[in-house]
Amino acid sequence: MTSFDCIVVGGGHNGLVAAALLGKSGRKVLVLEAAAEVGGAARTEEFAPGFRASSLAHILNRLHPDVVKDLDLERQGLRLKRDAFIPSIALVREGTPLILQGAYGETLTGASAKEQTAWLEMRAQLLRYADILKPFLSRRPPDLGGLSLGETAALGQMALTLKRLGKEDMRDFLRVLLMNVADLLDEQLTDDRLKGLLAFDAVLGAHLGPRSPTSLLGLYYRLAGELSGEAGAQLLPAGGMGAVVSAIAAAAAKAGVAVRMNSPVARIVVENGRTTGVVLKTGEEIGAAIVVSATDPATTFLDLVGPRDLDTGFVRKVSNIRMKGDTAKLHLALDAPPAFAGLDAAGHKGRLVIAPSTNHVERAFNPSKYGEFSPEPVMEITLPSLSDASLAPDGACVLSAVVQYAPYALKEGWQAGKAKFQATIMAQLEAYAPGIGRTVRHAELLTPADIEARYRMRGGHWHHGELQADQMLVSRPVAGWSGYDTPITGLYLASAGSHPGGGVSGAPGLNAARRILQRRKEA
Ligand SMILES: Cc1cc2nc3c(=O)[nH]c(=O)nc-3n(C[C@H](O)[C@H](O)[C@H](O)COP(=O)(O)OP(=O)(O)OC[C@H]3O[C@@H](n4cnc5c(N)ncnc54)[C@H](O)[C@@H]3O)c2cc1C
Repeated sequence: MTSFDCIVVGGGHNGLVAAALLGKSGRKVLVLEAAAEVGGAARTEEFAPGFRASSLAHILNRLHPDVVKDLDLERQGLRLKRDAFIPSIALVREGTPLILQGAYGETLTGASAKEQTAWLEMRAQLLRYADILKPFLSRRPPDLGGLSLGETAALGQMALTLKRLGKEDMRDFLRVLLMNVADLLDEQLTDDRLKGLLAFDAVLGAHLGPRSPTSLLGLYYRLAGELSGEAGAQLLPAGGMGAVVSAIAAAAAKAGVAVRMNSPVARIVVENGRTTGVVLKTGEEIGAAIVVSATDPATTFLDLVGPRDLDTGFVRKVSNIRMKGDTAKLHLALDAPPAFAGLDAAGHKGRLVIAPSTNHVERAFNPSKYGEFSPEPVMEITLPSLSDASLAPDGACVLSAVVQYAPYALKEGWQAGKAKFQATIMAQLEAYAPGIGRTVRHAELLTPADIEARYRMRGGHWHHGELQADQMLVSRPVAGWSGYDTPITGLYLASAGSHPGGGVSGAPGLNAARRILQRRKEA
């Protein structure tokens, strides 16, 4: 039997980050990926002859600075500079779109002077509050059972940052923390286009509407992300999201990590409460004292470990993780670039959002509670081939859109519902970019059920588990096991299902590797 120091199950970007860091520390590391290529939800793929798109994640807005630095990703060809940042644009059917320029709206255009002032005040406040949460992204959540010195210091640091805010801001931070985003927007802003855009950002990837309790946390999570030190910045990676993964994979290769594709793991082997390696679908056994599962927590424990080796209370907690995706992905191969109302050529290179008001987003959410898709979906659209001509044939264009709400468990089933939902999305697009329908050469819609099947993400969920207050921090993935350790000695978690959550950040992989290295040092 071959053996390694560490086996990483799943070559998504988090698995690769963990593997690269463990490899850099001198461990002999093997990554086992079920698919024919690495990257998981962050690949670039051809979806029609000559047309390529980021398969799921298409906008980079939170790659953790420690991941960039520790893996030297800019040397591996990743470009994260300010000149690549793109604006967010609230589309309108008629009139002037509203544009948040720079890193999350350093300037706002298309709104009244009064609204611009109100936005800049609100933006500064949101960033101040998101800053308090930022240090927690790159560390384990505090172990409430026995705080280590480091954890005590981190909590002390947070208390100090809160104190520095001043009495009034501190009170307000605590007041708004668990609010719904709609109420906060109504307190501070008046422009429906701006409120719709911010409401959309707060609930993106979640089974939440803007009026759901705690929905504001989603906006803080987004703003706690940064690129090149700029909170809320976003860009379309040249070559699609797969190029980000290629840079991480190159760092892993440089650290001596071996990667095997087409190698689905069937079982994580456990003997006397300790892992000794894995068994592949082919029956091949590979040994390792450390196994890092970078697949979602439910797949890890319910399928790969199995209930026999776990406490029933723990199995129940894992079974209860809410992880039914509500987000779909649409790719269009277009004969020519579309023309969205009121936008110039530069505008079309931005992130285009259809979410005309908070109420519109809420109304789009309502049916999904009952297993129905939105009759007027909200969406985030990019046209990546306008900035990177390698993604489409000459003169043609790629449209990539993240669309909500598309409940995983659609009442009528996705086999019956998919074509209807696609027609609904196209009708919405046609209203904002008249004539677009006539230019469609090929369309690919990925529902949460497709995402689950193709990308092995249970429930097709963006975060490998809802990122809501009861499934965050010390409760992520489940209460009592939030620090990347598991009830099985030698088995660790490293995917988006762990703290701090999803998005192409590399933070769960980073934190998991740090935890493993710290434990080895202690041993
Ligand atoms: C529709 C959609 C749009 C999104 N858009 C964005 C966006 O624009 N920006 C952003 O930052 N984030 C976005 N996200 C979220 C982001 O894509 C994910 O949170 C992130 O990619 C998860 O990375 P990961 O490495 O933790 O897991 P994954 O990418 O899911 O990787 C897990 C890997 O494990 C492999 N695997 C699973 N089971 C096994 C097994 N048994 N054996 C071997 N390998 C296995 C899988 O094949 C996969 O490669 C989006 C998500 C969705 C669903």
